This record gives sequence, structure tokens and C-alpha cells, in this order.
Amino acid sequence: MAFERITHTIDADAPGTTTQLTLFRIGPADAAAKIYLQAALHADEQPGIMVLHHLLPLLKAADETGELSARFTIFPMVNPLGMNQRVFEDHIGRYDFRSGTNFNRRWPDLFAAVDTKVAQNLTDDPAANVAMIREAVRDWLDTQRPTTAMQKLRHLVMTQAYDADYVLDLHCDNEALVHLFVTPDSMAELGELADHMGSVAQLTAEDSGGGSFDEVWPSLWTRLRQAHPNKPIPFSARAATLEYRGQPDVFDEIGKDDAARLFAFFQAKGFAAGTPPEVEAAPASSPLSATEMLRVDKAGLLAYRVELGDHVEKGQPIADLIALDGPDAFTARTPILAGTSGRVISRNIAKFVVPGNSIAKIVGTEPLAGREGYLLED
Ligand SMILES: [Zn+2]
Repeated sequence: MAFERITHTIDADAPGTTTQLTLFRIGPADAAAKIYLQAALHADEQPGIMVLHHLLPLLKAADETGELSARFTIFPMVNPLGMNQRVFEDHIGRYDFRSGTNFNRRWPDLFAAVDTKVAQNLTDDPAANVAMIREAVRDWLDTQRPTTAMQKLRHLVMTQAYDADYVLDLHCDNEALVHLFVTPDSMAELGELADHMGSVAQLTAEDSGGGSFDEVWPSLWTRLRQAHPNKPIPFSARAATLEYRGQPDVFDEIGKDDAARLFAFFQAKGFAAGTPPEVEAAPASSPLSATEMLRVDKAGLLAYRVELGDHVEKGQPIADLIALDGPDAFTARTPILAGTSGRVISRNIAKFVVPGNSIAKIVGTEPLAGREGYLLED
């Protein structure tokens, strides 16, 4: 049994400045399974902090009565660098100010990092292969020399996540219903997560093109399995991005319920004692390439015609864009039409938009033309 709080101090880039990163370890240190959770990697997305605030005491209580059979590593606020991005009283939090890197993109390609070494050491023993592959990742991490504050933070985070069986990355959208981003191999083992979360959509992609945190872990195992089909390599890192509604949806009541639902998922998987409540099955997953990120090509003021959760038909107006310049300024309204049929799961909280802004995610079922390569919003 353990409930440990560990705070690391990272040197920031400016002289004389540091940042602190706190993690919790809960559960039996010798448990076979490890579950890793983090929130606010996009620092402007705080519903996950509230969820983990309410999950910590649930796990602590279960641990004290010996009811956990997994060890948990939890970063409730994994990106203190992003928390420090306040500009003229607005919090930013999504991109590293120094490099412009989206905090949830361009995480390292672990397959490229370790495959050569792994290939030489694979055996016919599946458990030994899992241990050897994780050791290879650990060895690779040990050779890295992170320089900038962001690199140091990423490196520290990876040294805590590399051996996890489950990696859950808590985010949120702008204004949205609960949904998941997940790789197909992970989805095959995370059905109960979607069910207990009450997820309305599970958007799957093998590679969304962004090197997002939740993809690099399962991708390692999926690609090793493809590269070495004659060796037993169990798929060993299930991961997902959990989208907990929209940025303003930070309330005790919701966070407490979401934490209880996560705990129920751990019960369903046998990592916590007790029987989870019965819940309705989440809808079937759909390829991320079938989800339209509907964008505007002009600036204007949005007047939505649909609500979250609405089913829309291709060609149906999602919103009107009220012109703010030109001869028809403040009088003309241009309808923005859905490019596919499906369910609206997110909208833009900002109603003043500029060219290229996304105004809705519409979850369809058929992959859309042109939705290839980079599948994410930004
Ligand atoms: Zn995010």
C-alpha cells in the first residue's frame, strides 16, 4: 500500500526560474499492472484536473483497504509550463511559447527509437519480450539529454509512463460532449472505458499524424507486432485521449461523477475491488477520418443553428456566418453547411472566427475525401 506525493523541480529556461511538477503514486508497488493518468497537458484544459482531484481520494481509500490490484501514477497537472502562460490576463496553455510546438504533438517515435535493438533480443517468451521492450525504451530514455524546459518536462513524464499498461490522457474540447480519441488496438481493450465514461464517440486512428501523447505508446507495440509477426509480442500499452467536454465545464459535481466513472472502469478491469454499476454501452467507434472538422474560410460572427448532440444531414446549415466587413457587413448571413451526415459533438465557444477556424466536429461513419495524413484540428 502506498500513497506517495512526489514533486520534481525542473529548471526553466530563464535564469533563476524553476517549475514544479507533482505526481502521485498509489497502490501496491509490486502490482503486476500499472495505470498512468495525466491531465492538462494542454494547460488550458482543466476539467481533467478536477476529475483527478476527485479520483485521488477514491484510489487512496481503496488502497487503504487493500482493494487495489494495480499501481497508479498520476500527474493531475502535467504541464506547469503551460499553466504559466498568462498574457494580458488570458490564459493560453496550448503551445510552447518558445518553439510554437503544440504541447500534445511531436512526442517521440518510440518504434524508430528501439526497433533495431529490440529486433536482436526478441525471444519466444511473450512476457520476457514485454520486459525487454520496456527496458529498451527505458535505456533509450536514459540516453536522451533534454535541453529546454519543455524537453526536460517531456522526458520526466515519459520516464513515468513508459512501462504503463494503461495510459489515460485527460483533455477537453472547446464546447463538447464526452468523447475519446484512441488507436484501433487500444479501442479493442477500452470498450468498458467508453461505456463507463458515457462517451458519445470513440474516434479511432492508427496514426493521426501529430505524434500525440496517447498515440506514441500503443503505436510502439502495434508496429513492433507488425514488424516481427513470428515473435510473440503482446499488445501492452492501451492508451486514449479522454475528452471531458468543454473548457468551461469544471465543476465539482461533474468532476466527481467522472471520477466515479473512471473508478468503475478500473473495477470493470479488475484493478479495483467491487462491482461497477451497470451502464449503457457506448456507441460503436468510428474512424477519425469519418469525422468532419467543419471550418470557415472567412472571418465573421457565428450564429449556430444546431446544438451539441444533434444529428445533422450532409448539406444542412450548422451555423450562419454574419459578415463583419465588405459591402454586406452586418447584414449578410452565409450558411456554413455540414460536409457529412452525423452527430455534432463539439462547437466553438468563440463566436468571432477567422479563416481556418474549426466550428464543429461532426461524427460521421464514412471516411471523408481529403481526410488523410494529418487528421487533427491543429
Ligand atoms: Zn487537449
